Order: sequence, then structure tokens, then C-alpha cells
Amino acid sequence: MGWVLRLVETGTDVAGHGIDVMELSRHGDLGEIAELGLTLCEAKQLLGRVQQEIAAAQARAHAALRPECPSCGGGCHIKDWQHHAVATLFGAVAVRLPRFRCVRCGHDATGITWPSHCRSTPELDQLRAHLSALMPFRVAADVLFHLLPVEAGMSPETLRGHTLKIGERLRAAPAVNQAAEVSSITVTTDSTFIRSRDDGERHLEVRVGNVETADGGRQVFGAVARSETDIAVVIRRSLDAVGRTASTAVTAFTDGCAGLQSILADAGVTKPPIADWFHIAMRLQHAKLAASGLSTDAPERMAAKITIVAEVQRLHWRIWNGKAQDAQITLERIRKVMHVFKGERGHRTRGVASRKLWHALHEIDSYLIGLSARLVNYAERYRAGLRVGTSVTEGTANFLVNRRMNKSQQMRWPRRGADLLLQVRCAVYNGTLGSGFGQRFEPLGRSGAELALAA
Ligand SMILES: [Zn+2]
Repeated sequence: MGWVLRLVETGTDVAGHGIDVMELSRHGDLGEIAELGLTLCEAKQLLGRVQQEIAAAQARAHAALRPECPSCGGGCHIKDWQHHAVATLFGAVAVRLPRFRCVRCGHDATGITWPSHCRSTPELDQLRAHLSALMPFRVAADVLFHLLPVEAGMSPETLRGHTLKIGERLRAAPAVNQAAEVSSITVTTDSTFIRSRDDGERHLEVRVGNVETADGGRQVFGAVARSETDIAVVIRRSLDAVGRTASTAVTAFTDGCAGLQSILADAGVTKPPIADWFHIAMRLQHAKLAASGLSTDAPERMAAKITIVAEVQRLHWRIWNGKAQDAQITLERIRKVMHVFKGERGHRTRGVASRKLWHALHEIDSYLIGLSARLVNYAERYRAGLRVGTSVTEGTANFLVNRRMNKSQQMRWPRRGADLLLQVRCAVYNGTLGSGFGQRFEPLGRSGAELALAA
């Protein structure tokens, strides 16, 4: 059996006039499941042909227009014709569009508001950037090629070029403030590293973070250090997007990095940031693990270990309850009994516990000294239902950077490319990667984040 697919134009004088788009036929019957319905190849052909016919019809309709002169309001006639080759989601289309000229004053009019040198539709731009943000360029190019009748010869390099261009547009996008004014915002920042492809540098520092409001509004942001993206500008834009005003209380969290504090100040966050609990807790965890691994092969070691485990627990309690100034007492008590572990033999895989403990305590000590002005009573904040740390940012960093750009991928990144891709990833997460790039923001919208995490 066979079919003819006919495209029929409606709502105009020429109603009923149709164009045969494609013929389909089936020789076999439904005895084979593979015979059921359209094949991917047929579907791609069908989409491609329908797209060409529709674009051609649109171009014909456009050519019949006679726009008003933008200068004097007079009538226009056709001056000349211009060819446009445009890549769309469903294949490349070639359209021939008129350019107009005013009969009265000679002013030119195009009748279209396309960007200059426009070679693709916004929807295709968006999908290419979206896929490239979530998977390697090579895989994204394969997916597009596999499923859609997109233009032939879509190479990973082409895709990369398109995606980075979108990143540039996102970076330059103005702040959008569509969210209602909010009374408080939490901003958390952190830095992580990716492997560098640039000579003389092994790693690139990547700063990421998010802003959150009490009602669930959230935006993530990021920038590669010393790239063209100014992280302070990006933070400021994120704060404005979730509804910051002059009266909004902004609480910031950072790890020990001093650089982030001055960046936050540049973004208008003047209150000193709070040292986040997550990073402290991680260091305490190292000490606890090392303490629990201490050997108990002699009675005095057994006793010392009991003291040390209890003291590390107390250290945790003290910092959590805002009494970090007493941490030195704990550290001193531990130092006093550590000597009994002198000559302790290491475990085959875990190493020497006392040495690791010593190292972990030293880390905590210097961390606390560096942060002393930024430690707070975390227990009190926690009881009041307030945030105590940046564990959210750890998750953010993981999504924004690690899954696509780091470790498992074993990829090396040029500074600019990494930064621009990061801008696209942030936009995907924030749900702002729309056809009007950066123009769409939904404070409670989770769809972008969910899509991104699901990928
Ligand atoms: Zn005119």
C-alpha cells in the first residue's frame, strides 16, 4: 500500500491548493513488527520536505507584502531580492526575500528584523547549545545528526563554535529583573579546578555558586578565573534576577578563599561572608577518621586514643556552637598525648594513622586561624532554620563543572572555551536558555534544573 502526503494551505484565497510533499509505501504487511509506522529515515525526510515547503510558502507570502516606509509612512515597492540560506532544526532552507524602497522618499525597508548575517533559527541555536552543554560536542553532533534532518556536515568543531557563540551572547545579556522584590537572599560561592590545555598551566580555577531566596527562587552562576567573564558582574546579575533591592539582606557563604570575599564585595555584597560549615565539617571528618584508625596495641595507646577521639568530637562541638576560639585547648590536649604513637606502624593501605591525624589537625588549626573572623554559631543558625554552609554549592559545582568538564572526561580545556561553555551550562540550569536568550526567568521554574540533572 502507499500514501501521498499533501500540504494544504488554509485561511487564504488559495485555500485548497496543495503540494504533494512525499510518497510513502509499504510492501510488506504487519507480520513483521519493523513494518509498523514510519522509519526514522522517512520521518527525517518528511520533516525536511515539510519544512522546505512551509518556508517557501512563507517567503511567497512575505514577497506580497508592501510595508509602510519607516521614515515617511509612504508606500514601498520592491527594490531587489536577497537570498538567505538558513539552517533550521529540520534542515537547511533557502529563501529569497525582497528588499523594499519607499516610492516617495527613497528610504530602504527590509520588512524583517532578522539579525545581520543570520544563518540559523533561534530554536536550532538553542538546541545545539543545550545538547553541547550536557554532553561532549562529538556526542551532541551525533545525536543531532541521528535524529534530525539538520544540515549535513555538522561537525563537533562547528557545534563547538556555535555553542561558544551562544556563551558569548549569554555573557553579554543584560540583567533581567522580573522577580518580585525579596527580603533575603543567600549567596554561596566556591571554587574548583579543571584541567587546562593552555601551556604553562595545569589547571584552570573555576568559580561557581548560586543565589537562593526563601521562596525557592534560585540561579546558578560561574566563571573561569582570569577569563573575559567578570564573576562579580555575573553574581550581581544573578542577585538582581532573583529580586534583590537596596533593602534585601544578602548573606554570603564561602570557603577559606580570600579572593572570593573581594569578588562578593565587588558584586555589592558588603557584609563579610560566613565561613561555610561544609568545608569545616569535611576537615573534621578527616581528623575523626584518622583518630579512629589509631592503633591500640599498647595500654597507653588505648587510653590516649580514647582521649583523642573524645577531644576531636569536642572540637566539632565547639566549632559548631561558635566556640572556635576554644579549639586551641582541644588541640593542645591532643598534642600532649600524641607522643605515645611515636613509632606507630602504618596500615598497609591506610598509612600511619597518627601522622594523618597530625596532618588533619594542623589543617583544621590553620583553617580556623585564617577564618576566625568569619566563624559563627552554626548551631544557632541551624536551629533557626538558616543555612550553615555551601553543600548546595558543592552539588552545583558538581553539576556545572565536574560532570561535563572534569575528572571522568579527562578533558583539557582552553580558558575561553571552558568559560563560555560554563555560561551555557548555567543558562541551561537556570532555564534562561530560551529563544530570547537571557530574557526568560521563572523564579520557581525547576524544569531547566530537572532536565539538566536528568541528562
Ligand atoms: Zn518614505
